[in-house]
Amino acid sequence: MSAPTATPVSFGRRAGRALGDDRMRAAIARGTGLMVQRRHEAIAELRNADELRDAASVIRAAALQRLPELLERWSDNLGALGGHVHWASDADEANAIVAGIVARRGAKVIAKGKSMVSEEIHLNDVLERAGADVVETDLGEFIQQLAGEPPSHIVAPAMHKDRFEVADLLSADRGAPVSPEITAEAAYARRRLRQAFLDAGVGITGVNFAVAATGSICLVENEGNGRMCSSLPPTHIALMGLERIVADFDELDVMLNLLARSATGQALTTYTNIITGPRRPGEVDGPEELHVVVLDGGRSAVVGTRFSPALHCIRCGACLNVCPVYRQVGGHTYDSVYSGPIGAVLTPLLKPTDPAARELAEASSLCGACTEICPVRIPLHDLLLQLRHRDARADASRLRRAGFWLWSQAWSRRWSFGAMVLGARVVLPLLRRLRWLPDIGWLGAWRQGRELP
Ligand code: SF4
Repeated sequence: MSAPTATPVSFGRRAGRALGDDRMRAAIARGTGLMVQRRHEAIAELRNADELRDAASVIRAAALQRLPELLERWSDNLGALGGHVHWASDADEANAIVAGIVARRGAKVIAKGKSMVSEEIHLNDVLERAGADVVETDLGEFIQQLAGEPPSHIVAPAMHKDRFEVADLLSADRGAPVSPEITAEAAYARRRLRQAFLDAGVGITGVNFAVAATGSICLVENEGNGRMCSSLPPTHIALMGLERIVADFDELDVMLNLLARSATGQALTTYTNIITGPRRPGEVDGPEELHVVVLDGGRSAVVGTRFSPALHCIRCGACLNVCPVYRQVGGHTYDSVYSGPIGAVLTPLLKPTDPAARELAEASSLCGACTEICPVRIPLHDLLLQLRHRDARADASRLRRAGFWLWSQAWSRRWSFGAMVLGARVVLPLLRRLRWLPDIGWLGAWRQGRELP
């Protein structure tokens, strides 16, 4: 799948384009609306939802505090079971590790389940350049692969497409019409993907959680494709961000209780795969080799900082569904693997030198809906504000700093504050009478869609 383009177009421009795409906006409104409604119903079924969310928040914070210890325990346990753990500091290293395993195993076809880490490192491009046929087997990811687009939502990658657009893509792939009925579309994809599972020499999946106590990895999904990718091909490679660890099954239980409810409104996903090592003698299925590639990718630099809570994320997508910005402009506008509020926080943290990533913190109304819905209580709007503060401090010219210093001095004294309010009382009616403000720079942008008070 193609990587998000390193486009010089600003977020504002991309948002402007998205706002003109009525079809996409209708699909996003439908999809997010449904997910939010289902999430509220599923959370309401819990008698102790608030306590569970508090516990999840504590568990995620504790996991980051004990990260080296938990990762080491998990890695030792998985190694003792015959699994292989590979540590990758960045995307290049992770890609080289995966490409090396694929080459050694001589795999020509790769069946791939949903993995946001693989999107983050642009793995498909690397494997395809090396000559492999990579087939996305999650239905949404398969649709996006046919469209040549990255996913636009963490949980529902093709949420922005309606069934007619999907039918066009599937018809082009088939070389014959596929009816725009969802059952017909799913039936075609099922037939088409079955062969990929059978032909694949390597299966690649993501990891939702790793369990330190047993060396297990947990993979949740609804289509069964993750189970096929991890059990049919002779080699299974799982990609995991290094923060996705829990100490034991009690902690996993808390996470699973919240993940599916927050993501899709289910009590549990249809398939909850707990994989504890490769196939053992006498077992009828499972891979001969199991490799887990653990990606740092900028995460360890965030651990222990004031932005550390961003790494508590369990990728449920709920914050996207309630975000008034995401709901209007969709995921591709963020031009990042991670979109919505968590993307606006995570992207600049994982790509600190990318100026395009930094502007994402501005893509928020700071309404706090994301913070309110987050199952692990990440203070998203607070983190967005802190990112803005950080960048404003770093970017401000001397003149701007002096201006803000003067302003803060004026507003922290009763007499000067009073004088400015009095001045505003005089000036604002005049400006209103003029009905005009110069259409330049930030002032022009500010006055678009605003009336003077
Ligand atoms: S930040 Fe919270 S709500 Fe958003 S995807 Fe992560 S866990 Fe879900």
